[in-house]
Amino acid sequence: MTAAAESTVVFEGRFARELAELAVPWQAEEAPDPELLVLNDALANELGLAPDYLRTPEGVRVLLGNHIPPGATPVAQAYAGHQFGGYSPLLGDGRALLLGEIVAEGGRLRDVHLKGSGRTPFARAGDGRAVIGPMLREYLVSEAMHALGIPTTRALAVVATGRPVRRDAMLPGAVLARVASSHLRVGSFQYARATENMDLLRRLADHAISRHHPAAARSEHPYLALFEAVVAAQAELVAKWMLVGFVHGVMNTDNMTISGETIDYGPCAFMDAFDPAAVYSSIDVGGRYAYANQPVVAEWNLARLAEAMLPLFNEDQEQAVGPAVEALGTFRGRYSDAWFGGMKAKLGVAASPEHDEASDLVDGVIGLLKDGPVDYTQFFRSLGQAARGNSGPARGMVLDLRAFDAWAERWAALKPDAELMDSVNPAYIPRNHLVEEALAAATAGDLDPFHRLLEVVRSPCQERQGLERYTEGPPEDFGKYRTFCGT
Ligand code: AMP
Ligand code: MG
Repeated sequence: MTAAAESTVVFEGRFARELAELAVPWQAEEAPDPELLVLNDALANELGLAPDYLRTPEGVRVLLGNHIPPGATPVAQAYAGHQFGGYSPLLGDGRALLLGEIVAEGGRLRDVHLKGSGRTPFARAGDGRAVIGPMLREYLVSEAMHALGIPTTRALAVVATGRPVRRDAMLPGAVLARVASSHLRVGSFQYARATENMDLLRRLADHAISRHHPAAARSEHPYLALFEAVVAAQAELVAKWMLVGFVHGVMNTDNMTISGETIDYGPCAFMDAFDPAAVYSSIDVGGRYAYANQPVVAEWNLARLAEAMLPLFNEDQEQAVGPAVEALGTFRGRYSDAWFGGMKAKLGVAASPEHDEASDLVDGVIGLLKDGPVDYTQFFRSLGQAARGNSGPARGMVLDLRAFDAWAERWAALKPDAELMDSVNPAYIPRNHLVEEALAAATAGDLDPFHRLLEVVRSPCQERQGLERYTEGPPEDFGKYRTFCGT
């Protein structure tokens, strides 16, 4: 092997070592005929994993968990979770493995995790597998989120296993290698708490502090400070989702991270027309995880985290509740600040000294959007043109022209900053119909549409000639978009 084709990275097994009660050592299922479909060279380089090596047969086997790199100790992680409000005491990685951590820039650890790597002791009735379409979907959408500046797990690679997997039809199997600042979830704390092992709960919290919220260690009450930091990170995260029209789709407590990164791109979608009730997941019949409910659900999930952490706040449970409620109470203000701040930037009035008027304009624009089917992404992007004097395209999208004109006059008076607007209002998002088109082609063996779309959404705000099709809403016959979990 040449120097470039060698792996010099030594994995850490810190989670497996420090939190052994949450880690079941396990091995990935052997892939019969691996084929690397897509590799994130830039991310590999960030991790010190040579892309040339990952493209070798041995490197591809690393991405499948079939070749264990130096220092890696693959484990399935145990966690619990509230799913659609109902508590499951034992979920865990049913089809995933944590290979280990890599020390990245700044000394921070990053998890390398494999999804679709075969059944684990947590698999229950599942087959432990994943298929090409949904794994490429996670790759595409998580990379788009990253490009939009939204904290998220990253996609390192998708490898086809060469094994047909039974879903509605037989579909080609695949493994996604993803990278995260950790895979600690609200559900990890719920699991640790349920064991009634205080030492484990404390170690978990210490692990979370050192990896994600190190400033909490210097606080007078480190565990309460950790909780507050998670509240802040989640408030900011969900505000960012709302600002781009992202619907996560399955905000169960096992899918909410302690780091504040978006995780689990199963049934997510970006809304086309603005709709507070937008819901895409086939199983979310009650709309629990609808677009406008996301902040409410995040707060609910954080209340479950507080319950799990309660014994860490104070030995006396009565004494622990007050500070926990107070910390949770900061969510709404933080969310509101983050959302209003983001909306003011979307309107180009973030720097305006007329705060109240700018806030009023934010309320006003939501009113305009609610009034009729308006493409959320297109509308804000064309407001950038309106800020340059061409209000025709934005005006043409709304029903109530008098309301638009009255709003636009007040807005123009604040002298909106068109450049700021263009830097925060994406022209390109992974539109549902384009994602489906790319995945259907990929499943049939043609990866070109996937790579083209990936390229487009990696520079979401930089409008380019010839990409008009990527800015358009769905064709008439696209119908109601439906997404699925556990695919
Ligand atoms: P999710 O809805 O993707 O967050 O998954 C919820 C739980 O179901 C997790 O414990 C997953 O590991 C598990 N799971 C989902 N799909 C499968 C599968 N095909 N085989 C085994 N476990 C699965
Ligand atoms: Mg999950």
